[in-house]
Amino acid sequence: MDYFLYRNGSLYAEDVAVADIAAAVGTPFYVYSTATLLRHFKLFDDALADMDHLICYAMKAASNQAIIKTLAQAGAGMDVVSGGEYARAKAAGVSTDRIVFSGVGKTVDEITTALKGGIRQFNVESEPEMVVLNRVAGEMGVIAPITVRVNPDVDAKTHAKIATGMSENKFGIPISRARKVYETAGAMPHLDVIGIDVHIGSQLTDLAPFELAYQKVAELAEQLRFDGHDIRRLDLGGGLGIPYVQSNEAPPLPADYGKLIERTVGHLGCEIEIEPGRLIAGNAGLMVSEIIYVKSGEDRDFIILDGAMNDLIRPAMYEAYHEIIPVIEPVAGAEQALFDVVGPVCETGDTFAKERMMPLVNAGDLIAFRSAGAYGAVMSSEYNTRPLIPEVLVNGDQYAVIRARPTFDEMINRDTIPTWL
Ligand SMILES: *Cc1c(COP(=O)(O)O)cnc(C)c1O
Repeated sequence: MDYFLYRNGSLYAEDVAVADIAAAVGTPFYVYSTATLLRHFKLFDDALADMDHLICYAMKAASNQAIIKTLAQAGAGMDVVSGGEYARAKAAGVSTDRIVFSGVGKTVDEITTALKGGIRQFNVESEPEMVVLNRVAGEMGVIAPITVRVNPDVDAKTHAKIATGMSENKFGIPISRARKVYETAGAMPHLDVIGIDVHIGSQLTDLAPFELAYQKVAELAEQLRFDGHDIRRLDLGGGLGIPYVQSNEAPPLPADYGKLIERTVGHLGCEIEIEPGRLIAGNAGLMVSEIIYVKSGEDRDFIILDGAMNDLIRPAMYEAYHEIIPVIEPVAGAEQALFDVVGPVCETGDTFAKERMMPLVNAGDLIAFRSAGAYGAVMSSEYNTRPLIPEVLVNGDQYAVIRARPTFDEMINRDTIPTWL
């Protein structure tokens, strides 16, 4: 559920007309709903209410400081995957004892920064990383709290590019070798082994892979305790999927996911962390774009937008489906036709939708991509020297530009010309 609804024939973000934002900031742009972000956060918070828990929002999904501050004020911690995200979380006022550091290739610089600034835990993904972390912590005279990310070899049954929990994937250490790796970690004087981490993929639309993975984690936790490790925290990752097609069967509910967690690992009495990204931010954001031309082709018609693949890359990269709706609500029974919806970039990949049934629209009309809040703005680029598009946050009847569109000069002046030219 989200707070983007038609009211008197016009699309609103909470209590603000999307067309009013477009008139003020220009198109294309992203708009997020505070109420939707908070609602999704609360669904998880309620789902885990019976367990000691922390929801560490995977901020790579949508990392604007206004978004993470909104969630942090509601009680969220952050899951970061780079030094940049760590700095961003701190800049937004997130307390460092609520920041977990994930990622398969943490550099010495990133590790040092996090140890200096403070960190809740590192989710370590390999033995070489463990060695480096132990060394750096030793040099600084501190102890680094860690979990080890295990790869449970479970098929998440999602898009290949976002499946992470199979033995062929680069993530974590094979669960079959976990006891050996924990023994190594346990012997390192500057590491404090506090728990287990797992994350099997993104956009999971079925709970069964979570169940399999968490059962394996529970078994491992008991073995590790038997081996003498004080396993007291489980980081169970993110990955719960969202409905990209609103009419389709709904993916699992956070409440059922919470019950699954209680059923599979609750008896261990560990503190539970989860790292949802997409489910919190995905349906809390739209990308709004203006139609530049409607063009008739040989065998199909095209809707050409001012938004492009550099602004929202998910369709090109993951064959992702986004619902596309007009900002002015079509009247009931309005005529529809099939269109390819495309951007202006010189690549056939710059196609948002093929043969999409759409109401008859015109140049100058606004359309909105639904479910664009996660992995939208954060994956955008300035390809074709197109400026990064603004981000806007709505809260009730207020809105604010939370990232402004750069001017051409600002973009161009980031280049420096060598002296020999
Ligand atoms: C990407 C990622 C997440 C978030 O995944 P969602 O599908 O957005 O919930 C959580 N944890 C880790 C380690 C990740 O890499």
